[in-house]
Amino acid sequence: MTDQTLRCPRCGRDGTGTAGCPACRADGVAVNLELPLADLRGRDLASYPGGPWGWPGTVPLPPDADPVALGEGNTPNVRLEDPAGVWVKNEGANPTHTHKDRYMAAAVATARAGGSTTVIAASSGNAGASAAAYAARAGLRCIVVTTSSLPPVIHAQILAAGAVVVGFPDSVARNNVMRRAVDELGWFPLTNYVEPGAGGHPHAVEGLKSVAYELARDLGDSLGAVVVPTSRADLLAGIGRGFKELVAAGLLRAAPRLVAAEPSASAAYVRALAKTGRPAQERTEIPYVSTAAFSIGSDVANWQGLQALWDSGGSAVAVDEADFLAEQRGAAAQGLFLEASSAVAVAAARRLPADGAVVAIGTASGVKDIDLVLRDAPPLPVIGESLTQLRELLQRVSGR
Ligand SMILES: [Zn+2]
Repeated sequence: MTDQTLRCPRCGRDGTGTAGCPACRADGVAVNLELPLADLRGRDLASYPGGPWGWPGTVPLPPDADPVALGEGNTPNVRLEDPAGVWVKNEGANPTHTHKDRYMAAAVATARAGGSTTVIAASSGNAGASAAAYAARAGLRCIVVTTSSLPPVIHAQILAAGAVVVGFPDSVARNNVMRRAVDELGWFPLTNYVEPGAGGHPHAVEGLKSVAYELARDLGDSLGAVVVPTSRADLLAGIGRGFKELVAAGLLRAAPRLVAAEPSASAAYVRALAKTGRPAQERTEIPYVSTAAFSIGSDVANWQGLQALWDSGGSAVAVDEADFLAEQRGAAAQGLFLEASSAVAVAAARRLPADGAVVAIGTASGVKDIDLVLRDAPPLPVIGESLTQLRELLQRVSGR
């Protein structure tokens, strides 16, 4: 581990661990602890090579520790071909097809640097698959604790990497076991395990700042807004921290507006910002409702997520399920197959005023959602060796 102090950004108290600030939790507010911002003065943005390890020191590691890397980061910006001209930063191009690779690269490197040999992650989605891959790369044993809702694609990714995956009836049981494994067995927690969750591992969030560095390098001061699919707000907070570092060092004139994109059924940040005054906004808890955007939607508006919105003059946008599923089909029809959660951000981005470049973070590939896509698809048509049959099929399927 490093000797850098973690601090609560809300009350200023020092702390440790992944459970967030205990004083603020007692005050009814879920806040993650943070590292100090990195000093980027003297760095050259144009030559930034991308990824969490592109600028050494921005994810703190002891001097003798090695990063853990699989080629994460430097994902492409793809502009959708329609009047809105929304950009999508395609994080599906990462090694396990999700932005979580930036987070897990930093988390697993931190675990190994501290001498841990076993890591544990609580996840029913992309974080579990990413944890398994990065732990395998680092030579660490990995246990993924999940619930019975684990999508088959994620399950396969975890097993392929040689991790152990175990299900529990609900997230309360899962988190209880994880807490005991961390406290009693000394396993390194790659994710949060308290309810309501304060956010991810503070060192791992630093890996997500690289999204902001890459956007600043690629789009510079033309950036108007960055739209982020949001749940526990690790990505939103990490991107916000990255832009703060860039602006403080004079590498970017001003941070773009940050926008939290959420499914309407479970939109804690939209609910929070509809309230008057920060004391009311920071105490927002709603019932969690599962949606097709399985990676996002939150029952709590985490403080560091709200801070990213407050500090950038941003907002939160809720999208109905029919709208984001239509957006998923629309992007796929342009060749960009996104996870439904990412399509929530694209739909939200379309509703923003065109004030500079608007970027939706495509947090994961649509390969994570194959069940969703195949659910309503007809069975595979099988025909004989006949062009006539092929023509008939084309006529039936596409009308030409
Ligand atoms: Zn605090």
